[in-house]
Amino acid sequence: MVYLKTIESHGFKSFADKVTIQFDRGVTGVVGPNGSGKSNITDAIRWVLGEQSAKTIRGTTMQDVIFSGTDTRKPLNSAYVKLILSNESRDLKVDKDEVHILRKLYRSGESEYYLNNEKCRLKEIAELFMDSGLGKNAYNIISQGEVDQVLKAKPEDRRHLIEEAAGVMKYKSRKKESEKK
Ligand code: ATP
Ligand code: MG
Repeated sequence: MVYLKTIESHGFKSFADKVTIQFDRGVTGVVGPNGSGKSNITDAIRWVLGEQSAKTIRGTTMQDVIFSGTDTRKPLNSAYVKLILSNESRDLKVDKDEVHILRKLYRSGESEYYLNNEKCRLKEIAELFMDSGLGKNAYNIISQGEVDQVLKAKPEDRRHLIEEAAGVMKYKSRKKESEKK
């Protein structure tokens, strides 16, 4: 199974300094006082996996993810988040024990994605995670209120989650692509 080993970030939301968060296999809890940045960690994971909605990660514009400064610190001009995933199982179709994903955003609005240190398009990251249960539209992150949403969802919307779990998204997406041609 693929698992999250490390999150590294600089400039993302409250992470004004470079931070490295290591996770072990198994259950990990993140605890801390209100406002200390726990939810910013899940926002960071969603964001690096390609989240395009500022609202989903509790902002108004995408630039809101960049550290906006405090009374004693100047705002930063860019933010990045890097995930290191263990891929010893080869569940992600990259022939490497580790998969590194990085997203960087500048205040100018310019945005970059890297897969194993090579610049890439978001599409490549999305394809890599399709059917893995990870990715921005998957069920790897269930935030407050989302359990309700799943229960109350229309059958068509719930079907999306089941299709992701069953591994048919890749085929649906390829079908769509070929129909465009
Ligand atoms: P709770 O226990 O209440 O859920 P939490 O630990 O989840 O709290 P977060 O919501 O992750 O806390 O963190 C909120 C903090 O992040 C706030 O103090 C907010 O000012 C700060 N923050 C969010 N965006 C930025 C930004 N762009 N620049 C600087 N600080 C930011
Ligand atoms: Mg929170």
